[in-house]
Amino acid sequence: MGSSHSAHEHVAAADIAHHVATKLSDIGQRFTSGRKMIVEALASAQRPLSIPEILQSTKGLAQSSAYRNLTVLENAGVVVRVITTDEWARFELSEDITGHHHHMVCSMCGAVDDVRIPDTIEDQLDAALAKVAAKAGFTMVHHRLDVVGVCRTCQ
Ligand SMILES: [Zn+2]
Ligand SMILES: [Zn+2]
Ligand SMILES: [Zn+2]
Repeated sequence: MGSSHSAHEHVAAADIAHHVATKLSDIGQRFTSGRKMIVEALASAQRPLSIPEILQSTKGLAQSSAYRNLTVLENAGVVVRVITTDEWARFELSEDITGHHHHMVCSMCGAVDDVRIPDTIEDQLDAALAKVAAKAGFTMVHHRLDVVGVCRTCQ
């Protein structure tokens, strides 16, 4: 898969449930109602969510069951854990569902926002990073970059 095309590769909103159900069944798991609530919360958020935020938008789901279901969804490759600057783990749907993007992380409060970069700039990033990698004898497959700064609320 060419990384320069990855910005456009994602699962259409209507197909997310089918995609998730398939990935779960690959590891012998079912798409239970609790998992559906979590996937729907993450799909509508447009940014990574912390456990308290996930619990807020999945009324009736116990915290222990949210943790358990998130672990299963992570193991299925459907959900990924996002590194931030505060103590809260944050979760989002994987890039093969949402498409390639980056994160803006606030160093004061730990808030994370999704940010999509125009394809021309993604291509320039890929070219520059591939050169850096090649110099180190490393073959680049794709890249992950965060923008760390101070969010509007904290300024
Ligand atoms: Zn902030
Ligand atoms: Zn994201
Ligand atoms: Zn990128």
